[in-house]
Amino acid sequence: MKIIAGNWKMNGTHENLVKMIQDLSAIDTKNAIILCVPYTMLCTDSGKIALASQDISAHDHGAYTGEISAKMVAATGAKYTLIGHSECRQYHGDTNATVRTKAEQALSNGLTPIICVGETMDEKQAGKTMEIIESGVRESVPSVVNSNIIIAYEPRWAIGAGITPTSNEIESAHELIAKTLDDMGLGGTPVLYGASVKGSNALEIMSIPHVDGVLVGGASLKSDDFIPIITSVK
Ligand code: PEP
Repeated sequence: MKIIAGNWKMNGTHENLVKMIQDLSAIDTKNAIILCVPYTMLCTDSGKIALASQDISAHDHGAYTGEISAKMVAATGAKYTLIGHSECRQYHGDTNATVRTKAEQALSNGLTPIICVGETMDEKQAGKTMEIIESGVRESVPSVVNSNIIIAYEPRWAIGAGITPTSNEIESAHELIAKTLDDMGLGGTPVLYGASVKGSNALEIMSIPHVDGVLVGGASLKSDDFIPIITSVK
């Protein structure tokens, strides 16, 4: 069983989501499907397809105009929240420290955080990939043993770029993340790969050791692109 998560970013409408849920509900799969959708779609009845927000506030409640708390997301029935996505780090200034605070908010409100870590192109070119991945995990992930947490390794330079690291590079990154999580007492935490996953590379990527599923951006917006990814593995 793999975890296949789609990230709609700021795309789609309620009608698009209803249609996607209908299409996904009709397929025969044992894989767990999560759709990370805009806040306004979280109340949609989604049956066996789990919904997630794409972020949450680092605060519990109060004078934070425009923000949405973990408790509010949980009250919609959503079970997950994406945290620390590359675009939130880039445009909203999320750091490993704020990501960790948000993850703690998620856990204390019964949401499973999907915590994203990964290196930028500059960090890759400076030979810092492994260092950034390890510090991302150590600093962003709360060491709460027996908690429901998912990690997504997303090389930031490959998101939306149509290119991926090599299988060996993905394997090395996931091996390091698994080892680091083990060291933090969080062994067995699922780790997804994200960035430029599509129907044609999904099986190869999900066959790499320590890859427990995928986080899919662009190819999760249309059933014709998303379903082949989900059905590529049994
Ligand atoms: C993402 O935004 O999390 C992502 C993986 O995007 P894409 O699949 O489009 O690279």
